[in-house]
Amino acid sequence: MKMTPNMRKAQENMAPGVITADGFLGDDKRPLQDMIVESEELLRHEGIDIDTVVQTLKDLMEEGRNGLGEPITVDGKWIVQTTEARGHLPCPFEDGIYRKITTVVRNIEKEESIMYSTISLHLLQKHHFLEGKGSPFRLEPVQLKKVLELD
Ligand SMILES: [Zn+2]
Repeated sequence: MKMTPNMRKAQENMAPGVITADGFLGDDKRPLQDMIVESEELLRHEGIDIDTVVQTLKDLMEEGRNGLGEPITVDGKWIVQTTEARGHLPCPFEDGIYRKITTVVRNIEKEESIMYSTISLHLLQKHHFLEGKGSPFRLEPVQLKKVLELD
């Protein structure tokens, strides 16, 4: 699929060392447009509603902030740790800036976890981008379902 100049610029911004040290693409070398189409297909296939899942992840991030950087148990089901750093990061699509807040959610029973940041939630909600395969912040739909018990 042909990419718009905006999409090309976003992909350049996602390279390691531009916005974050690791970047957003992982090992994925495909055009960003193709990755987004695949993200949408994966989410649809798993029956994940983007707005619902983003709200759940935001709620868990907020709960985690009560731990002031230490892990806390939420609903007896998850161990949530939210860490905040100073400063902001721009979205690679250049449509906003986001605080540096990172959350790890671990499902105690299933022993599975996911990691995400304010910017990963924005990338998912606004741009339908799960981050490239191999990116530490990639939100794999199957993993999302397991950790959040969306079944
Ligand atoms: Zn954006």
